[in-house]
Amino acid sequence: MNIIVCIKQVPDTNEVKIDKKTGTLIREGVPSIINPDDRNALEEALRLKDKYEDTKVTVLTMGPPQAKVALNEAFAMGADEAILLSDRAFAGADTWATSTTLAGAIKKMGDFDIIFCGRQAIDGDTAQVGPQIGEHLDLPQITYVEDLKLDGDNVVAHRAIEDGHYVIKSEMPVLLTAIGELNEPRYPSIKGIYEAFGEKEIKVWSLDDIIVDTNQIGLKGSPTQVKKSFTPATRSAGEILEGNNSDKVRNLIVRLKERQII
Ligand SMILES: Cc1cc2nc3c(=O)[nH]c(=O)nc-3n(C[C@H](O)[C@H](O)[C@H](O)COP(=O)(O)OP(=O)(O)OC[C@H]3O[C@@H](n4cnc5c(N)ncnc54)[C@H](O)[C@@H]3O)c2cc1C
Repeated sequence: MNIIVCIKQVPDTNEVKIDKKTGTLIREGVPSIINPDDRNALEEALRLKDKYEDTKVTVLTMGPPQAKVALNEAFAMGADEAILLSDRAFAGADTWATSTTLAGAIKKMGDFDIIFCGRQAIDGDTAQVGPQIGEHLDLPQITYVEDLKLDGDNVVAHRAIEDGHYVIKSEMPVLLTAIGELNEPRYPSIKGIYEAFGEKEIKVWSLDDIIVDTNQIGLKGSPTQVKKSFTPATRSAGEILEGNNSDKVRNLIVRLKERQII
């Protein structure tokens, strides 16, 4: 079985600060991590590899050269192959151009059974890239996966919804997106770390290595126009009215009158 896991290197949001003047993220000196949902996707792929012989797990990322750090961590967790898509032509991509580029690389990679993505990245936060890859490759897709089993040539996934879950069966090849409830990602092993910096080698692919329409990638291929970006103003804490219900209503009416709302 061939499993491809799309992982994105993101800034550790616990560490991110906003430049008050420009309203942009201060990225300098901010540690980067593998996007949390992508670690769950990778863990699930590695569990399938542990269970089913002849399973290969390939991690794929589009990003700058420093994204190799994320791929090395994936190697250390147990991934077999890693591909970094890095080319100036990919820069400035919105979700459409990102998913087009990733799908272009997957077309070049050949046969696969499962493409695993995280549900969403903690920086961009759109949750669009996984489903878009599925559409580009004309695959069935199951998002928000919180439990996964194989049944012959099918996957049986629990798809989380607000008040329960759907159980969905799909033939492979299939695209899945993982959520945190799916599993507890493993730590890299000593053997894995040794291999990551020894025999395993990250392949770096450029535009020439993938199958893609060049008008659909990078800034040129990005239909999204960012009009304005800003940090929402922090609001003061609300007030909780105490007392019995009639006291609360009386107080609420006083407050609303004070502010000339009623
Ligand atoms: C006009 C515009 C220009 C932009 N320019 C840049 C830029 O120059 N540089 C830049 O870094 N960002 C840029 N971005 C942001 C970039 O579009 C998003 O980071 C990217 O498309 C992923 O979207 P997301 O973070 O919402 O991911 P989501 O859709 O939330 O991610 C879902 C899943 O898709 C997979 N995934 C997402 N991105 C990648 C990736 N790169 N590699 C592998 N798997 C992935 C992961 O499995 C992830 O969990 C730009 C955005 C816009 C709108």
